[in-house]
Amino acid sequence: MIISITILRYLYMYKLECRQVGFDCSHTMTGNTEEEVLQRAKEHGTQVHNLKEGELQSPEMQSKLRSLIRKTD
Ligand SMILES: [Zn+2]
Repeated sequence: MIISITILRYLYMYKLECRQVGFDCSHTMTGNTEEEVLQRAKEHGTQVHNLKEGELQSPEMQSKLRSLIRKTD
């Protein structure tokens, strides 16, 4: 059971396209979990778009980002 859950976790990737957030940017954040994608988005947003970490971690931004995350096949 534990093994099948582990396999399932890596069967799908999650992705978030930066331009869907509203930036003129072709970067896509990917990860094995939504949390991983959000972490990547935080790094990308602060490093490339000069966003404040606090802005990115606000509940509004977090729910916006979560709503834009898609599962890839
Ligand atoms: Zn970007």
